[in-house]
Amino acid sequence: MKVIDKILEDEKKVVFSFEFFPPRTEDGVENLLERMDRMVAHNPAFCDITWRASNADLTLDIANKMQNMICVETMMHLTCTNMPVDMIDHALQTIKSNGLQNVLALRGDYDSKFVHIQGGFACALDLVTHIRATYGDYFGITVAGYPEAHPDVIEEDNGLATPESYQSDLAYLKRKVDAGADLILTQLFYDTDIFFKFVNDCRQIGITCPIVPGIMPINNYKGFIRMTGLCKTRIPAQVTAALEPIKDNEEAVRAYGIHLATEMCNKILAHGIRTLHLYTMNMEKSALAILMNLGLIEDAKISRPLPWRRPANNGKEDGESSQQIKGDNPTNCST
Ligand code: FAD
Repeated sequence: MKVIDKILEDEKKVVFSFEFFPPRTEDGVENLLERMDRMVAHNPAFCDITWRASNADLTLDIANKMQNMICVETMMHLTCTNMPVDMIDHALQTIKSNGLQNVLALRGDYDSKFVHIQGGFACALDLVTHIRATYGDYFGITVAGYPEAHPDVIEEDNGLATPESYQSDLAYLKRKVDAGADLILTQLFYDTDIFFKFVNDCRQIGITCPIVPGIMPINNYKGFIRMTGLCKTRIPAQVTAALEPIKDNEEAVRAYGIHLATEMCNKILAHGIRTLHLYTMNMEKSALAILMNLGLIEDAKISRPLPWRRPANNGKEDGESSQQIKGDNPTNCST
């Protein structure tokens, strides 16, 4: 099912989603699948997995396991950096044959720089256009939106985009939507007023699709500084003031991160926005604590059996192809 249809199914209902990234080791993947399984018991509308251009097969494999073993509606990110079109089509065909219907279409950066290969796509707009031209309406397409403008146009000295750059970013976002995207997922932010202004500015230029706020709980101080530095995110003065005295106390930082994200989500919900996307950074506690605080889940300790685990004598090893997994699906997600 398309994520957009899930979101629009009952516009009064608050829904949430979790984002994960592909771990670097096999053990990491195993742990992540177990964690996802526990988190999916709380009924997210969907979960997504980021695209790592340097290990595309891993993202494809995890996406397949999410959809067909964890049994959660899965959105796979797909970037066009450093990707020939036939690799992009291979990825799209693979997820289509594995029953996924959702893609987050991105330009991507390879080693922090976009690499435009000959004959490849130059931007997410090209990818959206290609997906619609080749696959018709099969996929629900999400695109990235930047409440503070894309980091490339945020100036180093004042941390701001010029009004012209911000407007041109918005106009470009509209082109992505006009080309066939049906949902916008935002870059992380910590100032909800910036997000509300962005939504309003999008509506002013005729973008009507849902805009889902991306919320990244602060899990530790160093990670927060690194991410906000990379994304050139504005940090409200009260957040800096709250973090400064506790920055060496990991527990206190995490507790503050939960408090702050809960506050942000409450403001967003009060504004009438009914979908919350949590960048989990593959961690469980903060995301679930925030949802508990918001009254969106009942018991953070719920755990359920792991239906995707095969009996030990099943004979399949990690590393099997996604087609094999589908053909030997131990669960029936539709029941
Ligand atoms: P685009 O939409 O193509 O555009 C980026 C910016 O370039 C625009 O905002 C605009 O300012 C400018 N631009 C491009 N083309 C034009 C044009 N024709 N006219 C005018 N302006 C133009 N990276 C990964 O590698 N893997 C991931 O899984 C991943 N997931 C992400 C998820 C989200 C929600 C977000 C916000 C980012 C994610 N990224 C990921 C990072 C993303 O790839 C980078 O931010 C990248 O620099 C831009 O990708 P984009 O799809 O926004 O690019």
